[in-house]
Amino acid sequence: MIRLLEHEGKSLLARSGMRIPRGALYPELPQTGGQLVVKAQVLAGGRGKAGGIKFVASLADARAAAHELLGAKLGEAAVMAVYVEERLSIVKEYYLCATVDRDLGMPVILASRDGGVEIETVAADRILRRPIDPLIGLRPFVVEEVVRFLDPPAPARAGLREAVACLYAALLNEDAELLEINPLALLADNTVVAADAKCVLDEDAAYRHAARVHAFDGTSFEIAARELGTIGIELEGNIAAIMNGAGMTMATLDQIIALGGQVGALVELHGAMAHGPERIAQIIQLVGKQQPAVILLNVYFQFRPLDTIAKGLLLARDCGWLPERCRIVVRFRGEMEQEARTLLAGFECTLTGVFEEACALAVKYANAAPRSKQPVAISS
Ligand code: GDP
Ligand code: MN
Repeated sequence: MIRLLEHEGKSLLARSGMRIPRGALYPELPQTGGQLVVKAQVLAGGRGKAGGIKFVASLADARAAAHELLGAKLGEAAVMAVYVEERLSIVKEYYLCATVDRDLGMPVILASRDGGVEIETVAADRILRRPIDPLIGLRPFVVEEVVRFLDPPAPARAGLREAVACLYAALLNEDAELLEINPLALLADNTVVAADAKCVLDEDAAYRHAARVHAFDGTSFEIAARELGTIGIELEGNIAAIMNGAGMTMATLDQIIALGGQVGALVELHGAMAHGPERIAQIIQLVGKQQPAVILLNVYFQFRPLDTIAKGLLLARDCGWLPERCRIVVRFRGEMEQEARTLLAGFECTLTGVFEEACALAVKYANAAPRSKQPVAISS
């Protein structure tokens, strides 16, 4: 799941033809005279109520408001960016959303006349929920159905039709999971613009959008892990744990914690194995920088040869990337297991094929290490 800030979401929608207000990311300012809206960029709705949206009358006031918002807290989130837009003269606010319904197995369009308020508070019969068969696509009569439900004044129909079509196109073009416009604003001149945008993209399709720049929230370790094609999480402990698959990763984390150990760097290999031993070595280098007491590799691969892991370990050693006084525990199961074991014959590590044993050894070594932190007491 990749969530976008409002201004990122608006550029994404605009790529598929959606009309958006003129705006700029502070310290840039839109080249417009007149009234402006200064909007805190945080990954949460309800900014209006929380004081994250300010209406100002000049560029100077916009600067002052942006300055005030930057770094301030909006609920839980710190405001890391501020977007400044021309102020719209809104005649009517609609709600429009395109998302993927997992139960139906197809996209749906959601629409309501009650825009500008939290959709959760709108009565179900005031929201149209229209599944779109992806093999048939968005037909004009469906667009018409949505527009008729919104019941706009006649001159606004064309703009609404366009907005519905652009939104659906964006959902497909961008491999989005959810695109929500609240409000979709009808202006005095009958144009229809996306006044707000909430966008969630499908992370597993990110490779199809290599050029897309999106903010990824995370520590420098987590960002580096992602750049290596893995999912990394930085925690507090002294065990670096490298696993494959979400299930194995969570099971390993649970087991280590249950045995009184603490994980510091957690890495799920994700697609990294496809990039060969060099990539594995880089991942070991990355977790090594955290100076863990133990590096635990707990992997089970049926489709990828385990010698990739073994060669990665040897490469990391030859490059001098293994941290000093760090013990290495390797639990292998699967494809080319024997070859991988043979490769590691002269490599200083503890090899096992047993999940529980690997976790127990990692915890034992870590808790015996000089700089080990006190494990947190687990209450069950
Ligand atoms: P949210 O509170 O985080 O959903 O932020 P929105 O961007 O949706 O803004 C909240 C409300 O502010 C909207 O429903 C509008 O009523 C109002 N608003 C936002 N931008 C404008 C604008 O340019 N002009 C006017 N008149 N109202 C705006
Ligand atoms: Mn909104």
